[in-house]
Amino acid sequence: MQHHWMIRSSRHIRRLLLLLMAMPLLVACVATPSTEQAVIPQSDESLITITEALSQVATSTPAISTSTATATLTPLPAATDTPTVAPTTTPLPPATTPPTATRLPVTTNAGNVTATPTTVPIADLLTVLPRPTPRNNISDTVRVPILMYHYLSTPPADADKYRLDLSVTPANFAQQMQYLADNGYTPLDLYDLALVITQKQDLPEKPVIITFDDGYRDNYENAFPILQQHGFKATFFVITGPIDQGAEQYMTWEMVEQMSQAGMRIESHTVTHPQLAGMERDDQYFQIQSSQQTIADHIGYTPRFLCYPGGFYDETTIDVLRELDMWGAVTTQGGQWHSFDGRYEWPRMRMRNATTLREFAGLLEQ
Ligand SMILES: [Zn+2]
Repeated sequence: MQHHWMIRSSRHIRRLLLLLMAMPLLVACVATPSTEQAVIPQSDESLITITEALSQVATSTPAISTSTATATLTPLPAATDTPTVAPTTTPLPPATTPPTATRLPVTTNAGNVTATPTTVPIADLLTVLPRPTPRNNISDTVRVPILMYHYLSTPPADADKYRLDLSVTPANFAQQMQYLADNGYTPLDLYDLALVITQKQDLPEKPVIITFDDGYRDNYENAFPILQQHGFKATFFVITGPIDQGAEQYMTWEMVEQMSQAGMRIESHTVTHPQLAGMERDDQYFQIQSSQQTIADHIGYTPRFLCYPGGFYDETTIDVLRELDMWGAVTTQGGQWHSFDGRYEWPRMRMRNATTLREFAGLLEQ
C-alpha cells in the first residue's frame, strides 16, 4: 500500500475516474460511466487507492478494444504456481462434517466423442491440499492398472528390438481405447490416485491410468487425438532437455502446452534421462528439480510426479523426491496395487508392440 497515493475524498476519485474514462484508448464505450461509478464506494470515509479504483474500472468496463480485452483475460501463470506458499494451516473439517471441502468430483466419462476430460485445476487443489497425507493416518491401498506406453507409431523398418518392442501402433492403441470406453473404464490421473489413497476420494468402478514415457512427438500426433475422441485423460512423462533443444523426435513445448490445456497431465521424466541410481545427490536433485521447474514454466503449475528413467532409482532418489514435495513416482515394475507408503514406487503395466487386445483386456482384469 502506497500512502502518498491514497485519496480521502470520493469527489477527487470521481474526477480521476472521469479523466480516465475520457481516455479513448482505455475506455471505448462512453455510454457506461454510471455502471463504472456504481462500483466505487460513495461514502466519504472510504479509503481508495488509485490502483484500486483503476482495477475496478477495468473489471467493470464491458467493451474495450479486442486486444486490450484479450490481455485482461490472459491468466498469469506465475500467480497459480505457488504450491509451496499455499496455506498449510487449512483446518480439517470436524469428523461429523462430510469432508466435501477436500473431496473432488468423480471423473466420469460418458464415452461421447471429443469430450474434454474432467481435471481439477491443480492450483485450486494445492491451495486446499499442499501435500496430501492420509487423513487420521489412515490410507487406502487400491488396485488401479497404470498402463505404460512409449512410442505410439508404426516402428520404422530398421527399428532395433527395443524400439520395436516399445512401439504400439496407432491402430492398436485406438482399439485399446475403444475397449476401455466400451467396457466402462474411467481414466484417472496420478493426482486422482493420490487423493483416492490419502483422502478417500471416490474411486470409479473401473479405474485405469494411461501413461506415456519420454515425450515422443508421435504421442502428440497419434495418441492425443484418439484420447480426445473418448474424452480420456492421460499422463505424459517428458524429458525436458530434448524439448528445450528442439529435438525432432520429441514434442515441442507448444504441443506440450496444448495437451496440458486440453486436460492431459505433464509430469517429469528428468532433464536428460540418466540412470539416477548411484548418481551423486546434487546431480539427482538437478535432474528432478530442474525438469519440474521447466515443466511448471510451461503448464502453469508444479508437476508432482516423477517417472524413473529406465526404472532405476535408489534411496537418494526417494529422499530428493520427499524434499521436493513430490506426491509420487512410477516405476517399470509390473503390478497394480498402490499405497501411500509405496507412493514413490507405484508399479505399471508395460504395453508392448505385440500386446494383443485379448492380452490387454486380461491385463486390466488381473
Ligand atoms: Zn524413459
